[in-house]
Amino acid sequence: MNVHNLMEDVVIKAVNTLYDRVKGENVTWLTCDCENCRLDTVSYVLNRIPPKYVVSGRGVTHNVEYLASSQLLADIDSLALEGMRTVSSTKRPFHTENREDCTIQANGNKTKPAYNFFTFMGVVLDGNTFEPVTNAKITLKLNGKPAEMVDKTWSNPFNLVPSTKGVYSFWVKSIPAKKSGEREFFNFSIEIEADGYSESVYHFEVPIMSEDSVRQTLDSTYTLKMKDLVIFKK
Ligand SMILES: [Zn+2]
Repeated sequence: MNVHNLMEDVVIKAVNTLYDRVKGENVTWLTCDCENCRLDTVSYVLNRIPPKYVVSGRGVTHNVEYLASSQLLADIDSLALEGMRTVSSTKRPFHTENREDCTIQANGNKTKPAYNFFTFMGVVLDGNTFEPVTNAKITLKLNGKPAEMVDKTWSNPFNLVPSTKGVYSFWVKSIPAKKSGEREFFNFSIEIEADGYSESVYHFEVPIMSEDSVRQTLDSTYTLKMKDLVIFKK
């Protein structure tokens, strides 16, 4: 089965349009606009908006923009600009040396055993209305410290924006293991700060079996859907 995230098409188009426009204006902060930088920006945006999957070839029309509300399109543009700035300002680790540092977490330890994490994905809801919370800062901690993400296209803390309907996601960088096949429990917590709401902290423990190498690709079967996190107004 081949599934496709329709948002990819929308985001790729938006990012390319934005790059071309900004490049035309000769802004100083745009340090590079190569294909790799553009793809990093596309990932940055896709990691922050809800996907829309279809089975490939099933009557997908060319014009997918109609799937996205104008609010979502506006948010995609502002996320694209934010992503572009992030990618431009972190150009060095991104690709002047080895591109592998950028897209992939492995720094020469690809074949060493590692604890690979799921992507964590979940929703933050208002405890009174059960509507998604649209502005909040979400921090994922591992053993009490902010967890390191696989690369710069994922961020921790994660800031919610209105059209993402309270959805957040994290992909934690792999941790080296002594050997494969060993089970370890990892203690995570998610802290949520939002204006007008009481600060909330959720704790959870994840058992991970070490594998013989660092996971390189994102696979949708490797997403852990978190229970809904509910926060309350002060
Ligand atoms: Zn570049």
